[in-house]
Amino acid sequence: MYDVNKIREDFPILSRTVYNKPLVYLDNAATTQKPLCVLDAMRNEYLNVNANVHRGVHYLSQQATDLHESAREKVRSFINAKSLSEVIFTRGTTESINLVAQTFCEAFMKEGDEVLVSDMEHHSNIVPWQLQAQKRGIVVRHLPITDDGLLDLSTLSSHLSSRTKLVSICHVSNVLGTVNPVKEIIRLAHEHDIPVLLDGAQSAPHMKIDVQDLDCDFYAFSGHKMYGPTGIGVLYGKEKLLEKMPPYQGGGEMIDKVSWEKTTFEQLPLKFEAGTPDYVATHGLATAIDYMLSLGLDNIEAHEQELTRYCMERMQEIENIRIFGPHLSPLNSHLSSHRDAVVSFLVGDIHHLDMGTLLDRLGIAVRTGHHCAHPLMTRLGVTGTVRASFALYNTKEEVDALIDGIHRVSKMF
Ligand code: PMP
Repeated sequence: MYDVNKIREDFPILSRTVYNKPLVYLDNAATTQKPLCVLDAMRNEYLNVNANVHRGVHYLSQQATDLHESAREKVRSFINAKSLSEVIFTRGTTESINLVAQTFCEAFMKEGDEVLVSDMEHHSNIVPWQLQAQKRGIVVRHLPITDDGLLDLSTLSSHLSSRTKLVSICHVSNVLGTVNPVKEIIRLAHEHDIPVLLDGAQSAPHMKIDVQDLDCDFYAFSGHKMYGPTGIGVLYGKEKLLEKMPPYQGGGEMIDKVSWEKTTFEQLPLKFEAGTPDYVATHGLATAIDYMLSLGLDNIEAHEQELTRYCMERMQEIENIRIFGPHLSPLNSHLSSHRDAVVSFLVGDIHHLDMGTLLDRLGIAVRTGHHCAHPLMTRLGVTGTVRASFALYNTKEEVDALIDGIHRVSKMF
């Protein structure tokens, strides 16, 4: 039994008010709130365990190392990676993709080689590749989307060539909510021996991820979007690829032996983890994963799907509303399976910023603007949208508050 009111007690921030109104927090795609267990775990570590990890002979250091490395194991089993060597801690999705962009290009790409992204990418899956384009002369190509906000797989093959060295796409769009048919994309890319990176920033918080079943070559996600702390994220990579990629940053932790003549590097995954890791945040992330697992990933997904469906249904009441992204029912199974917990919209010619500002005055937190996806905004022919995004603790009453709020704002214009 999924008791959302009970769950909300784990998130004290949800009971605060803004402008004397109950907070309705619908900006979860940007970041989620943290349950008490995560905050307690981190506080407890700083209070009782804190010491730098790895190589310490003393008790605290060993205890901190155990917590840090068991967090790696927690992440490994959460995404079903084959081995701990394939789980690299980073600052988040952005750093994970930058790591791949720099080191994969260094190892495998030369001038004229291509990386294929899509028209619905977040800037963090565009700009790292553009930087490599400037530096190495690689070419960034982008797969188009349909007017419904879907990737059309019939165009995929024509975008792959002998020069394509990597496909890098989002699993779920942070603007459209589209859940991309990534298994099919990976299968097609692999037929051409092309590895695939999935930007999982918007999928890891909402669905069971099994990197072996997906057969993706890289998978990137952020802790703060799944009830964990800020500043910690993960890059999963297949060992056979990571082995061939050079280190990302140099410093402590990532070396085997350093001399003036020759420096050798640590084994995976430490080869990619220079400097003191955020070992308290990794423990926080592991606690967040435990929290999600205790509620049940299927239950969380079902709850969020229900909220999304309810929100989109209720939005039909609003005159002149334009909802971006796929319809709810699967339109065509080879295009997209479903929509995730994100609803982007515009009402008439009300500017997204006006809508967001006025909703805020009613206590409703939504995100407005380009959502770090300028090329997608251009494709949609808008400068920005209003985005409501749901998490495991949101309620139908909050959706009702949003709908009432939109009605009220619409009447003012
Ligand atoms: N990709 C997608 C699809 C996202 O939604 C986000 C965050 N908005 C990112 C990448 C970047 O994540 P972070 O800022 O945590 O690195």
